Amino acid sequence: MEKPWLAYYPPQISPHLDYPAKTLPDYLRETAAQFGQKEAIYFLGKTLTFQEVYEQSLAFANYLVNIGLNKGDRVSIMLPNCPQSVISYYGVLFAGGIVVQTNPLYTERELEYQLNDSGTTVLITLDMLYPKAVKVKGHTNVKHIIITSIKDYLPPLKKWLYPFVQKRQQPVAVQIEERDDQHLFSNIVARTSPNEINVEVDPVEDVALLQYTGGTTGFPKAAMLTHRNLIANTLMCVHWMYRCEKGNEAILGVLPFFHVYGMTTIMNLAIMRAYKMILLPKFDVEMTLKTIEKQKPTLFPGAPTMYIALLNHPNLSRYDLSSIKACISGSAPLPVEVQEKFEQITGGKLIEGYGLTEASPVTHANFLWDGERIKGSIGVPWPDTEAKIISLETGQEAKVNEIGELIIRGPQVMKGYWNQPFETESVLRDGWLYTGDVGYMDERGYFFIVDRKKDIIIASGYNIYPREVEEVLYEHPKVKEAVVVGVPHEYRGETVKAVIVLKEGEQCTEEELDEFMRSRLAAYKVPRIYEFRKELPKTAVGKILRRVLVEEENKKG
Ligand code: AMP
Repeated sequence: MEKPWLAYYPPQISPHLDYPAKTLPDYLRETAAQFGQKEAIYFLGKTLTFQEVYEQSLAFANYLVNIGLNKGDRVSIMLPNCPQSVISYYGVLFAGGIVVQTNPLYTERELEYQLNDSGTTVLITLDMLYPKAVKVKGHTNVKHIIITSIKDYLPPLKKWLYPFVQKRQQPVAVQIEERDDQHLFSNIVARTSPNEINVEVDPVEDVALLQYTGGTTGFPKAAMLTHRNLIANTLMCVHWMYRCEKGNEAILGVLPFFHVYGMTTIMNLAIMRAYKMILLPKFDVEMTLKTIEKQKPTLFPGAPTMYIALLNHPNLSRYDLSSIKACISGSAPLPVEVQEKFEQITGGKLIEGYGLTEASPVTHANFLWDGERIKGSIGVPWPDTEAKIISLETGQEAKVNEIGELIIRGPQVMKGYWNQPFETESVLRDGWLYTGDVGYMDERGYFFIVDRKKDIIIASGYNIYPREVEEVLYEHPKVKEAVVVGVPHEYRGETVKAVIVLKEGEQCTEEELDEFMRSRLAAYKVPRIYEFRKELPKTAVGKILRRVLVEEENKKG
């Protein structure tokens, strides 16, 4: 298979890497041995060293073994980013268990489905989420709920103030009864000895993580990611960021770790490279700006909506963001406007990358320093990653610049979906992962995503790629966010609708937007309907939930 992009790799990047026969917790052990007294985590004023993270993870692992966890048993972690989310993740892996990442915002129904589908027996969650967990428990195989509190890792004064703050935010006081099957995280890590555990894990074959995703069909299922998958992707990331020094970077952890993007490019990367993680439990614009100014992270992996929100903050210029030297944006298209403005303000690099849960997740990125960056492109495939475009009609490899489906093969590609052989067969063939994303490759081997297979709008027989229309909308000076969806139409089959969020204080009419769009796009692509909203539905990583908007339209009939 030809890999034209290799000719454009700068000399610092090698097309092949070595993947040692190690497990994820092996890296934590090594980092603690080398950088034990270095700060590993900063969380709302409190810091933990790598040695502390290592010992507490091992203590937690011992506890899990003591309560009967066997190799391959599933443990669900339903936590926002906090020291406990890191410690429990590595603890489960030290014990030979499989981590099931669970979104704290799940409804009871979603939680119950995931716990049953994964066969989870132990659930770790926050005190404030306990009522939800306990309600669902009886309908699942969960035997133990382990409870922790944000206050467990706060500095003394904040710890003391926490009950007052929490009551203000959470009017229903959470009463946790001490019962056999409930366990307090803080006691566990304080009272259990951090002995090494002898459990044989095969990094290539053994699954480390079940990561739930809608995938290409929207039906929730778990990608099985092995230690090798996750380590390979993290090592690729290390290699791609070759100017970042081991033990000498600080990384902003605002992307949630319960999504594979934050987990690999922040948590696993930081543990492998001894970077300090500056954790934020949720994305709040003001808090993020303040944290960057005070804690001075050098790296900030994020999603486009995060960068957009920061850039639109009215007092942005008051904050010093100059510590940031590199950001990878993924999970959705990065508008060129946003990229340029962010780079001007921080002086650092913001590059677009691409990935999906099934690939641990990253497969492509632009070059950060040496090597050409192409705006609007997702960049080139990472080392050891094969990628090609196949024709949507014939399934054969497409020509250069021809639009088709992106398929990928590499050591980061999942083993398959958990208990879903048919779903697995439909996306994994001969090791190739069929992404459902539609795009093209240019003659140099740079890839461009134009849309998702099922997001394409077909109006009067024309294919319209919402992404292209959105890019133009983002060029409008008053537009903050935009999503384009297809809505049923009597004559055209479908027609184009744009849902717009305007920048603060701006006013804009449909006519103004229409004129702007008509001067830039072929008439058939121009939205026929505009809707203005205050905000758009988003996922935990800030990806705009196009599907929710499409469903709303379908319901309207
Ligand atoms: P997830 O599995 O939740 O990480 O979502 C993966 C999907 O996000 C991909 O299949 C793409 O549709 C989309 N995606 C990720 N990165 C990009 C990007 N840079 N441009 C366009 N779409 C992206």
